[in-house]
Amino acid sequence: MEMHLKGRVALVTGGARGIGLAEAAALAAEGVSIAVNDIDAEAAAAAVEKLKDFGVDAAAFVCDVSDEDSVKANVLKVAQRFGRLDILINNAGIGVRPSFAVADMPVEAWDLMQHVHVRSTFLWSRAAIPLMCPGGYGRIINTSSVNYTGGGRPGASHYVAAKAAIAGFTRVLAKEVASSGITVNAIAPGYVATSLIAGFSEDMLAIVRDQNPTRRLCAPEEIGALVTFLSSRHAGFINGEIVCIDGGRREYYWGDDA
Ligand code: NAD
Repeated sequence: MEMHLKGRVALVTGGARGIGLAEAAALAAEGVSIAVNDIDAEAAAAAVEKLKDFGVDAAAFVCDVSDEDSVKANVLKVAQRFGRLDILINNAGIGVRPSFAVADMPVEAWDLMQHVHVRSTFLWSRAAIPLMCPGGYGRIINTSSVNYTGGGRPGASHYVAAKAAIAGFTRVLAKEVASSGITVNAIAPGYVATSLIAGFSEDMLAIVRDQNPTRRLCAPEEIGALVTFLSSRHAGFINGEIVCIDGGRREYYWGDDA
């Protein structure tokens, strides 16, 4: 199926590695130019070189996703550099760990999780919307998680609350901007083989692999294919949706001492 995305410009937060880089590469393969945001300048520069191999334009915009002034400045820089902005993928994130029972949760751990995931999704969307859509087309794709759609495990309340907030934000923003041609959706991946879960022990990996009906983890490229479809005109009537990509399993049993 032809995606008709050639010439579009996408901004991917946390695009230097993992899911974000796979999303950027999938779009670049369809002829989309890519603005890579990340806090890791070296990895962002390396990602830009990989993306250019697809024959598209790419550039890095390094900042903390949750810093208001940096977000505003970088979205303007993206629009100046590429002349347009069509697709925003709010992907940057940090993992569940260190995990804490609510009773032991330091407020700093709670706030960091909300800032990197929720505050950033709001800030990038707010900055990007006025620049999107002169031709009646725009896409915002946020990143929730099976940890929210499945309920989440003990110790992960900071992460699950953030991913739940992103789902709620997505549903409301979708209604606010639909009349201008922008759709807003979130993806809710199951466990994906990236550095985010690199610290999982063999036992934990066995749980997420063996309890999944597919008996495997998700590949980042499968997320790339999903966001490419959601970015295309074929998905124009999918709006305000939380799209699970989890192999058919949302809740895992972690054992009695989880
Ligand atoms: P990853 O660690 O491989 O990549 C995350 C990227 O975000 C990194 O390049 C990192 O430098 C960047 N980043 C982190 N904090 C940042 C900040 N403050 N400012 C700018 N950039 C920052 O992780 P991933 O697995 O690719 O995760 C991407 C997204 O997918 C996250 O939102 C994550 O919560 C979500 N997710 C991941 C999984 C999984 O199993 N890997 C499952 C569900 C959802």
